[in-house]
Amino acid sequence: MQTLLGTPASSGVRRARWTIVREEAPPAGGTITPEAVEAELERVAAARAAAADQLEAIAARIAAAGHPDEGAIFAAQAAMARDPMLAELTERRIRERLEDGIAATLAAAEEIAAQLRAIPDELLAARAADLTDVGLRIARLLAGRGDEPGPGLDAPAIVVARDIPPSVAATLPRERLLGFALETGSPTAHAAILARAYGIPAVVGVGGLIAALEQAVAAAGGRPVELAIDGDSGEVVIDPDEPTARRFDELAAASARAADRAIAEANLPAVTLDGADVTLLANIGTPDEAARCLALGARGVGLFRTEFLFLERATPPSEDEQLAAYRSVVEAFAPDPVTIRLLDIGGDKPIPYLPLEPEANPFLGVRALRLAATRPDLFVTQLRAAYRAATAGPVKVMAPMVADATDVELLLSLAAQARAGLDGEGLERGEVELGVMLEIPSAILVADTYFGRIAFGSLGTNDLLQYTVAVDRGNRALARYQDSLHPALLRLIRDAVEAAERAGVELSVCGEMAGDPVAALALVGLGVRKLSMAAGSLPLVRRTVRGARLADLRAAAEAALGEATASAIRARFEVLARA
Ligand code: PEP
Ligand code: MG
Repeated sequence: MQTLLGTPASSGVRRARWTIVREEAPPAGGTITPEAVEAELERVAAARAAAADQLEAIAARIAAAGHPDEGAIFAAQAAMARDPMLAELTERRIRERLEDGIAATLAAAEEIAAQLRAIPDELLAARAADLTDVGLRIARLLAGRGDEPGPGLDAPAIVVARDIPPSVAATLPRERLLGFALETGSPTAHAAILARAYGIPAVVGVGGLIAALEQAVAAAGGRPVELAIDGDSGEVVIDPDEPTARRFDELAAASARAADRAIAEANLPAVTLDGADVTLLANIGTPDEAARCLALGARGVGLFRTEFLFLERATPPSEDEQLAAYRSVVEAFAPDPVTIRLLDIGGDKPIPYLPLEPEANPFLGVRALRLAATRPDLFVTQLRAAYRAATAGPVKVMAPMVADATDVELLLSLAAQARAGLDGEGLERGEVELGVMLEIPSAILVADTYFGRIAFGSLGTNDLLQYTVAVDRGNRALARYQDSLHPALLRLIRDAVEAAERAGVELSVCGEMAGDPVAALALVGLGVRKLSMAAGSLPLVRRTVRGARLADLRAAAEAALGEATASAIRARFEVLARA
């Protein structure tokens, strides 16, 4: 038996047989004569078009099979195949270096992929793999190996691989796929997204897995070697012994029971024992998360992070593309509302088509709404898409990183431009409620100067805490400041609740704090009645709220406001979260 540790990428536990899916060797490239250049260019253009057609066909097939969001991955790859940048780089290599179509295409795709990889962002790194995959597909067509790759799974198994490109992932038979264990990849890689959509476990970043498996097989002398994976802890066990096998089976049974219970309770209201109603909403980062949130009983989306639309590419998404993404979520949740958050990117997440100056302190720099000073078009387009999506159901839009009333006026003017543009063009649109993220302390301190102008505020406690205690939210060395029950944060939240009540503005919390059952009780005690969280947090928060009494929570909140430390505050609510 050998235990390896990877990164958990899709929840669940599985012990089973496994199969290694190997990457296909790319076709070999070569060189051509100067006379052959024009003909080679034509050949490559035809192969690119054929690859794009293939990818569109796969996208349609997968969408028709009930997985529209996985289908979208291939639609995006089709767009990559048709991307003029790929065509240009390939052409240059053929003309200038006399590389043949295969060599030039593979090198050009790799050149763009390398640019994407150089950006420290997981989503973009995953897209780099897509681009390499597209290059391979075109090269295979040029080499006359145009058939889709796709290892079969002859019996149910956990798929082990270095990485799984989307074109391969899509060909794996759903009914025989028991899980993924990958040597590379991140939780945002496609295999991980696919695993979450299918509800099967996945662990990624398991270094040395394939070699270890091969050694185990050699040492086993013909005895079958099983694999056990835990998509919640990242544990991967090769050839588990009796007690380990039993532990995994128990974990698998417990996780199946917890999932059943979560679904069974999904329709119960989050109401305290003494009748205070709390609305539980979902935080999502892509449209494909909507179905799970609905299954777990979310009553709307309190935070739809839209960065995924902007980070996955070399050019900004079109209005229609955004409309499609927003509308699919709005349709899924109607008549419950969906809160779309305007783009929150900037110095900390550079993107290829936004040339931003490097900043010494990106979190204090040109981020989120602050980008509107130089690129108002990005926000107006996004708002136009949101107003158009509002014909399908209730839509709210909130601006991230609002600091004061001037930022609010900026939001309102961008929204007015979006409406005027749509109305001028005669495009159909709905009404949208406008609000702000309360994630900068100043926004709460001066809330009374602009609350009359907006419909709602949503506390982004992740950033609010980081800006209040001056601690980078990702710096593990400063963990002691990162408990959201810090007394300073509690006082700011109390101020926000009071300002919202005075102004008649709806208030919610969409930071991670809302999904922490103990902290959620503190929020309810402070007067918050709308909590938005990752889907996986919904069941436990619901159960915790249902086991508490508002009167106790209010008293504990009152006392907590006088405490000096987060741990003392946490202790007060922990005893009330024993439901
Ligand atoms: C927050 O800051 O609390 C928040 C919800 O936004 P993000 O985590 O996307 O910055
Ligand atoms: Mg934030």
